[in-house]
Amino acid sequence: MKIKQNELNKYVKKIRESSAKITPQRLEILKVLLRNKDEHYTTEDIIKQLKNKKIGQATVYRTMELFCQAGILKKVNFKNEDIARYDLVDLTVPHFHHHLVCNNCGRVMEITEDLLETLEERIESVYNFKVTDHELVIKGVCATCQTGENHEQT
Ligand SMILES: [Zn+2]
Ligand SMILES: [Zn+2]
Ligand SMILES: [Zn+2]
Repeated sequence: MKIKQNELNKYVKKIRESSAKITPQRLEILKVLLRNKDEHYTTEDIIKQLKNKKIGQATVYRTMELFCQAGILKKVNFKNEDIARYDLVDLTVPHFHHHLVCNNCGRVMEITEDLLETLEERIESVYNFKVTDHELVIKGVCATCQTGENHEQT
């Protein structure tokens, strides 16, 4: 996936706003994340993608934490794994996307439609709670598994 310069700039700006500096290493890590937006990578996966870049593992681990604090990454956990997975936050929408997780094959799909407007309005009016974000994981059976074509088990 090719990176658009204006998109990269949005993330760089957001990192700077958190008063973190943009180093060449951090920029490389950011590019890997942007090129693989649909993935939910572990830090190990990122390290593999960076293998020719001479970036120390500790730097990658620290950068992932720093990106979380800057609000461009979120930790996600769909399958009660012990290892952290990360998801790039879409800076063009106010709330985090939802995930559909297949109970049978383990596939994770993203839905970018919010669909929670009615719920959010009701929570704000009834509970006087200001909704700023949400992380929703919907479990079920994916289209392929419903047809019985996929016998893969996780
Ligand atoms: Zn996601
Ligand atoms: Zn929402
Ligand atoms: Zn499935």
